[in-house]
Amino acid sequence: MENKNINLVNGVKQIIAIASGKGGVGKSTTSVNVALALSNLGKRIGLLDADVYGPSIPKMLGLSGKPDTTKEGKKIIPKEKLGIQTMSIGFLVAEDTPMIWRGPMVMSAIKQLLYEVEWNDVDILVIDLPPGTGDTQLTLAQQVPISGSVIVSTPQDVALLDVKKGINMFKKVEIPVFGVIENMSYFLCPHCSSKTEIFSYGGAKKTANEYGIEFLGEIPLDTKIREHADKGEPLFNNKENIEYNEIYTKIANKLIDKLENQESATGPKINFID
Ligand code: ADP
Repeated sequence: MENKNINLVNGVKQIIAIASGKGGVGKSTTSVNVALALSNLGKRIGLLDADVYGPSIPKMLGLSGKPDTTKEGKKIIPKEKLGIQTMSIGFLVAEDTPMIWRGPMVMSAIKQLLYEVEWNDVDILVIDLPPGTGDTQLTLAQQVPISGSVIVSTPQDVALLDVKKGINMFKKVEIPVFGVIENMSYFLCPHCSSKTEIFSYGGAKKTANEYGIEFLGEIPLDTKIREHADKGEPLFNNKENIEYNEIYTKIANKLIDKLENQESATGPKINFID
């Protein structure tokens, strides 16, 4: 593929895009917790909320208010929380303002959030993509130097259909899919800790296997995850929830491996269904 339109992002070494076939599967929640896990492993992390229609990262990180600009006023300084540099359209518009934008406007907003920001020596920028596999995602993937992508899905068949679309979208733009994460994998009862497979557990792993893509991990459906996200205090690093630190750290380690091995590898062997 020709890379004529790809522009490097100043201050950023590598980019991982977190995608999902549809909204509400926990893409943003997973992006935040994986970003924190990567940071905990010693990487300098940026988190770009590219979900401009429904920016939820500010709320999940408990951040609000307009970001500062550099002295000359040319660039926006990302807000920092828990060691992570963060940028979101949510810092620039009121929470209840609907984004009634068409495709090209969305792309231009995302590009500003990416390129007109003073990222400070970021090793890995995690981009929380808008949900879906439409034109915006495709254009973004074509124009931004993304090292690899991650697809978040819930395990039921209707969600997995969209995972397949996601995989094929990244194939079109020749971006490796680093793996699939199954979120809301099973329900963990807060009272008796029993597991209930609400969405038919294991579907994402099966789909990943079908396509020769790595399965990165499974995250249960747990009220604690939602509560922490709503409070603006993400679950990762919360000392009472060591089991989640482990889950997200395992995923983060796999991603670091993928990034580090990328140069020597010829890319994952993926069996696409056309
Ligand atoms: P998306 O980015 O895919 O639209 P979000 O990350 O915004 O999804 O998550 C949607 C809702 O589900 C949020 O209220 C979030 O707190 C909740 N949520 C996400 N993952 C989990 C989980 N594993 N367990 C419980 N609630 C979750």
